[in-house]
Amino acid sequence: MRRCWAVLLSAWLLAMTGCAPGIAQQLCVEFYDVGKADAMLITTPQGKRILIDAATDKEGEKLAQTLEDAGVTRVDIMIITHFDKDHVGGADHFLEQLDVGAVYMPVYEKDSKQYTQFVEALEERPQIAVERMPRATEQTLEVEPGLTLRITSAHQADYGEDEENDFSLAVRMTYGQTSFFFTGDAESARQMELLSEGDVACDVLKVPYHGRYKESSEAFLTACSPKIAFIHDSEDDPADERVLAILAELSAETYCAKDSGLRDVSDNQSVRAEQQP
Ligand SMILES: [Zn+2]
Repeated sequence: MRRCWAVLLSAWLLAMTGCAPGIAQQLCVEFYDVGKADAMLITTPQGKRILIDAATDKEGEKLAQTLEDAGVTRVDIMIITHFDKDHVGGADHFLEQLDVGAVYMPVYEKDSKQYTQFVEALEERPQIAVERMPRATEQTLEVEPGLTLRITSAHQADYGEDEENDFSLAVRMTYGQTSFFFTGDAESARQMELLSEGDVACDVLKVPYHGRYKESSEAFLTACSPKIAFIHDSEDDPADERVLAILAELSAETYCAKDSGLRDVSDNQSVRAEQQP
């Protein structure tokens, strides 16, 4: 009977959050449809959870509540790529509603309500390990056997006009033979840095900057050559046709948030994509 409940609970969690923890060998990445904003949740084979960006204030609040309602109590690692409101906006809700282990973020400050709420929520929770990554640094985390996260920070202290997007942390995750690359809102300067760091080829790409076209787009996307690409766009702000054309040329299976969310599952040999309703 107990086992039966465990199976039911696990099926329910899977239905609610897309990824039940602890399914042997399976790594699951949810790309949420939260409008023109980023939020992704990784569930590892051992049931750890990693959140990359927290959507807007409103969408992040809904998402944190949905996860809590589904019985998710903890996020082991939260990565905020940069402090624009469509990435950091909902972070305070996750900190308030879930037990968060560690937070990674770049080193700069922003004068905005969303950033202030995030910092205040962090200050109220001194038990959380906070890693502010100085420029041109990297952290490699062995999350569990066979699963590695490599987080890199922007190289420069000043990027001119598109400054804050180019401060985006980038995250490369490898699991067995499979690799995922999360690129925040990297624009041309940061995309070129990522190219210079090497090792950008990936199975799954979180396309940078909501699918906007930049002069580096062709070189960057071609070097990544993803099998599966996800774009956090919206009806009002759809992905640039030129970006979609480059991805089509590369034969990437491309999904856009304006159509639906996406769940990618890796069995450590290959990745498959399941579109969410
Ligand atoms: Zn953004």
